[in-house]
Amino acid sequence: NIFTDIVARVRAMDPANARTWFDDLTVERFDGGSIAIGCPDESNVRFLHENCRSSFTRAAQQITGHLVTVDFVVGAADRRVADQAEWSRPALHPDYTFENFVVGPSNRLAHASCIAVGQSLGQTYNPLFLYGSAGLGKTHLLHAVCHEVHKRIAGSVIQLLSCEDFVNRFIRAIEQGNITGFHSQFRTVDALVIDDIQFLREREQSQEEFFHTYNALYNSGKQIILSADSPPNEIPSIEARLISRFNWGLVARIDPPSYETRVAIVQKKAHLRGLEINDEIAEYIARQVQANIRELEGALTTIYALATTLGEPVDLRLAQTALEGQIKLATKHISITDIIDVVTDHFDVRLTDLQSKRRSQSITVPRQICMYLARNLTRHSLEEIGGHLGGRDHTTVMHACSKIAEAQQSDPQMQALLSELTKRVTQGRQVA
Ligand code: ADP
Ligand code: MG
Repeated sequence: NIFTDIVARVRAMDPANARTWFDDLTVERFDGGSIAIGCPDESNVRFLHENCRSSFTRAAQQITGHLVTVDFVVGAADRRVADQAEWSRPALHPDYTFENFVVGPSNRLAHASCIAVGQSLGQTYNPLFLYGSAGLGKTHLLHAVCHEVHKRIAGSVIQLLSCEDFVNRFIRAIEQGNITGFHSQFRTVDALVIDDIQFLREREQSQEEFFHTYNALYNSGKQIILSADSPPNEIPSIEARLISRFNWGLVARIDPPSYETRVAIVQKKAHLRGLEINDEIAEYIARQVQANIRELEGALTTIYALATTLGEPVDLRLAQTALEGQIKLATKHISITDIIDVVTDHFDVRLTDLQSKRRSQSITVPRQICMYLARNLTRHSLEEIGGHLGGRDHTTVMHACSKIAEAQQSDPQMQALLSELTKRVTQGRQVA
């Protein structure tokens, strides 16, 4: 089956974006020049569009040997369900469901209250206010509630949006003189879900508008769910009457996850991508990355990307190599001098050549590579990097960085060289 081969190729090329539900994709149309791939619902379509378009196109072209284009649509089997639904479907992330959420002591209350609210809108906690630092799962839980409601009640209307979107839409409504339209958009819903409400700070007119929206919904028993990076009383520059309303229902805090929860999350994320992961690797990642779940996922992605690039299996040694660069970066151990040492040694040039005004290829390439690596592996500013390399200004450094980044994209040899040099810079430091 050609399509099974295409999906298998995508999995191999782009393991970070591959998902187990790729197995449920279907071919809706295949007429020589184009393939329409059928997805379970809108959220999958959006995910594929944003993340996987080029890998599907490349895979399809390699497997069929033709110049084909790829498009993603909601599959015929699911379209009937989608048509019945009259609600405005918010942009939900397909991964952000309750099933994919790992519950632990740090998020138990937030999770339980989201489940309760999802089962009976407006009947339990209203408003529900979630707060916690970045990357701890607030957005994930908000989306999960929406997925749940959509699954259970056809025809329910949910508005889910970032606070920034709310503010921007409000501003646009004023500009276009269409406040009535704005009101009907937000005051006729069954649930209003606003992410990162702290963004309302210092926006007085938006606060005023939100206040009235809130009252209209609350008084007619509609559900309100909010998230923020701090508890209501600690959001600066928000009107007291709003803060007091945020406290009317349930305020649930999300803490950084424990070690055990982190291990379970890594395993869950790997499973979602169809990646084999053993306990040793999951535990290693959970030990290395502690504060932020987004970074936990990033570590997983980095490790599997390196394994794909090198064509090697994922073992502890490879995981360590993959994360070393990042960990060193976090502890600020790499200096520009380390980078210059490795680069001058590799190209057999002298530092004074790099600092000189010479513009021959044999000098500009290593000079630009130094700048690129310094930019990526140290915390130095563009000015400081330019200073080390002959007093060049920041635009020169910026230009060098984008040139090397482009070359890395288009030239596998450059990619290999950069990863080799990066390895030497990070490993050199470890020995020292
Ligand atoms: P926040 O909105 O709090 O900054 P997000 O909801 O964007 O955080 O979460 C960041 C990433 O971490 C997302 O990919 C999310 O799926 C993941 N994540 C957070 N908490 C959990 C959890 N308990 N189980 C599984 N994944 C989680
Ligand atoms: Mg968020």
